[in-house]
Amino acid sequence: MARLRILVTGGSGFLGSHLCERLVAEDNEVVCLDNFYTGSRANIEHLLGHPHFEVLRHDVQQAMTIEVDQIYHLACPASPVHYQRNPVRTIRTAVEGTLNMLDVARECGARLLIASTSEVYGDPTVHPQTEDYWGNVNPIGPRSCYDEGKRCAEALAVSYAIQYDVVVRIARVFNTYGPRLREGDGRVVSNFVVQALRGQELTVHGDGQQTRSFCYVTDLVEGFMRLMASEHGWGPINLGNPSETTMLGLARLIRRLADSHSEIVHIPLPKDDPVRRMPDITRARQHLGGWEPSVPLEQGLGAVIEDFRQRLAAE
Ligand code: UDP
Repeated sequence: MARLRILVTGGSGFLGSHLCERLVAEDNEVVCLDNFYTGSRANIEHLLGHPHFEVLRHDVQQAMTIEVDQIYHLACPASPVHYQRNPVRTIRTAVEGTLNMLDVARECGARLLIASTSEVYGDPTVHPQTEDYWGNVNPIGPRSCYDEGKRCAEALAVSYAIQYDVVVRIARVFNTYGPRLREGDGRVVSNFVVQALRGQELTVHGDGQQTRSFCYVTDLVEGFMRLMASEHGWGPINLGNPSETTMLGLARLIRRLADSHSEIVHIPLPKDDPVRRMPDITRARQHLGGWEPSVPLEQGLGAVIEDFRQRLAAE
């Protein structure tokens, strides 16, 4: 079979770099596109000399042309600290960036997978979240630039699918973690791990009873690839780990796994912080050949702790 040419936008980010690595390992030709706003060269350094891997510095907000077979469209700042820094730019990236990639797909006939988010459910009133739940999003809150941007991206993708027959797949990505998380991006796993390793206080927001469900990055990448290959159509699919953890429980677990004696402290909860989040992955199981996450939280956190240990030691 001829090698596929695959574009990964946001390819040097956390998720993108793991996806590029896997696609290259499976003998595809990979074009990694990034503006390096939150992505980093260090994430893809090990792939740089590979004959089937190339890097394009480009911002998806700008139109482009390229001939590829598949596009994984991941480019967008994704952690609250990053996406709230320049909310207008976040909206433009989500909306104009997706529009530009849909146009590329339409022009060259590529299949396009867009990375949407569990944030389309906002602060959900339905638990666990199924794909047919419409969500509870504050349209003018601090998270709206990301949430509404991604909701619009989904609307665009579906409209292109129906109106122009572009082949799109929509993944609703729930909280994902793994090696290469960025220090200082404000995400809970990277914050707690770095704090535990440095002997600093672990900063639990609020009472810590809010929940998230954490999926290890390699499980997520497998889900992406199965979704891209599936004949499921444009209906969104949740990709995440259906095992729910409180943030206080996570803090205690990370402290134990890191052999840390850090204190756990409580600081104010950010506005509009979702109370509970957990994916219903029935659809993914059904349509993606029985896909489900296989890496348990303790094992995945062990790998993250080891990764940060090495990076902090090298500082
Ligand atoms: N959180 C926390 N301490 C931190 C960072 C985050 O307790 O140092 C909480 C945050 O308020 C939220 C959860 O952890 O309830 C997940 O936050 P994150 O930013 O990682 O992801 P998101 O809110 O986008 O799911």
